[in-house]
Amino acid sequence: MSTEVVEPTTDQALLGDESVWTGRIFSDGWTDAPATIEVTEPATGEVIGSAGLGDPETVARAASSAARAQRDWAAAPATERVAVVRRAAELLERHRAELIRWLVRESGSIPPKADNEISASIGQFEMAASLISHPLGHVLPSLTPGRTSMARRVPVGVVGVICPWNFPVVLPARSVGPALALGNAVVLKSDPNTPVSGGVLTARIFEEAGLPDGVLHVICGGAEVGQALVEDPNVRMISFTGSTATGRKVGEGAGRNLKRVVLEMGGNSPLVVLEDADVEAASSAGAWGSFLHQGQICLAASRHLVHESIVAEYLEALVERAGRLPVGNPDTDEVALGPIINQKQVERVQGIVDRSVSQGATALTGGTHEGLFYSPTVLGDVTPSMPAFTDELFGPVAPVTSFRDDADAVELANATDYGLAAAVQSGSEQRAAAVAEQLRAGMVHINDQTVNEEPPAPFGGFGASSNGGHFGGVANLELWTEWQWVTSRPKAEPFPF
Ligand code: NAD
Repeated sequence: MSTEVVEPTTDQALLGDESVWTGRIFSDGWTDAPATIEVTEPATGEVIGSAGLGDPETVARAASSAARAQRDWAAAPATERVAVVRRAAELLERHRAELIRWLVRESGSIPPKADNEISASIGQFEMAASLISHPLGHVLPSLTPGRTSMARRVPVGVVGVICPWNFPVVLPARSVGPALALGNAVVLKSDPNTPVSGGVLTARIFEEAGLPDGVLHVICGGAEVGQALVEDPNVRMISFTGSTATGRKVGEGAGRNLKRVVLEMGGNSPLVVLEDADVEAASSAGAWGSFLHQGQICLAASRHLVHESIVAEYLEALVERAGRLPVGNPDTDEVALGPIINQKQVERVQGIVDRSVSQGATALTGGTHEGLFYSPTVLGDVTPSMPAFTDELFGPVAPVTSFRDDADAVELANATDYGLAAAVQSGSEQRAAAVAEQLRAGMVHINDQTVNEEPPAPFGGFGASSNGGHFGGVANLELWTEWQWVTSRPKAEPFPF
């Protein structure tokens, strides 16, 4: 794994030129924001910018402008809309180095994670552009002679997109790209932890790509701004990515306002290691699944369920791997783990670890932090009642629980309200498939780990991880459009009345 820090090239204008966005939001061009927020580098605590912060009034103005702009945008030829999204993909590629640097500094990503995130975002835009080649409806048989009857998909209108900070470029991209390509306007609310990589850069990309004014608004803000988006009458749909607790509030508000809502929320994903698994490969999958991006991934391997006959060997291998992973500033040092996003998150992770240890778990390595730098942690002897088993971790912690047989493994894996991802490792693909078949998760991977995403695949979870919507591929056609029945007759005919 290369962890080389990529410097932006100097032969091109900077996408994130501060003079454009400092103290501003993107709403019908760059306009002065009612407040500002410091952009902080978690690894050093250094303030690296001052972004604009929105408020409920800003949201109301943006949503009203978006509703006006959406009508012309939906009426524009599909080729025109798709050309903008394609150019956005090209711009991501052209400015890749600069985008990576922002992700490294602002979100604490290591460069390979950031690089991968930009590739994933390009994939999302390319996938969105390909939607143009899919049929948007059906010609229906009609019961009325001479009548043409069609079912067609039409854009939803203005979509409010709310995203967290952990993958601040690709999470907006997977909503904004297809929503725009299919004729919607978007108001994106970025997270206050990542105003630049989570908002400013997406705004700049679409500005440079030639998106007409008013079709995309980008406003940074917290709960109050998010809630304003959920309540706004001009916003017809909410796409929310974040924690299950917030998702419930967003879902309630959207329901009260009769809005379509897609909620992609937390996870507590199991990695099941059967007794015939290759322990080296499985422990490497486990380390990747739990420690990548400091474990701050919804899909992270949150529970390692390992057959009792190999659990000692597995723990030894995992501890050894954890010990090899350097932690530090990803902008200046070659590290495998960067900082946790903020102090509150560190304390949350430490609380889960401490309470689990006090209930009998064993911290075989890690379990401590220096500032925001949390050591890769392996917890042995974890039982289903401990917080490390029941709660979403969102930190670099691998809790390991042993099981007796395949049926026991399935029961443990499903002993959660969440249902985002799951993975099974076995020497026999067939046997792993038989276990995988019984796992209640929206994304299941055999002889792999839990952190996977591909633009053509439907991304979504079951249970408390999702309200049933899916991002990606042809699932996008359904998500960002709704049915309309259209009939037509050559001329109007009289009725009996
Ligand atoms: P969070 O729920 O606290 O915040 C998510 C977003 O919601 C932020 O933009 C935040 O400002 C906004 N928000 C907060 N309160 C709100 C309210 N009352 N109304 C409207 N918006 C509000 O989540 P977080 O802790 O920042 O992010 C981590 C969580 O996100 C984890 O649970 C993780 O699993 C989840 N996540 C899920 C996916 C997925 O695709 N399933 C992807 C990434 C992260």
